[in-house]
Amino acid sequence: MKVMFCPKCKSEYREGFFKCVDCGTDLVSQLPPEQESEVGYVNLVEIYSTYQQSDIAFIKSVLDGDGITYYFEGESPNLMVGGGAYARLLVKVEEADRAREILQELGFLE
Ligand SMILES: [Zn+2]
Repeated sequence: MKVMFCPKCKSEYREGFFKCVDCGTDLVSQLPPEQESEVGYVNLVEIYSTYQQSDIAFIKSVLDGDGITYYFEGESPNLMVGGGAYARLLVKVEEADRAREILQELGFLE
């Protein structure tokens, strides 16, 4: 029997289901390879989140200048237009302290 998967919550569904009951994501017949989906997410911690597109651009330029590896999750110019979406700044665990210091100096963090 054919089985479908939710790529988000990894639930299995019988054939005949097309959307995940839990999260509404379209089901796929095969899950993507594990290591591929984990690349870029390993050892990242959230240190800041913002609704401000200008803040994101500024923080990026500062972190770039400092050589810190970071990732803005949820960042999307389309989503930002509505003002309801926000981006979360994720950095590598090893660099989290340094990144927090920088954001403190800039006044983004208390
Ligand atoms: Zn799901």
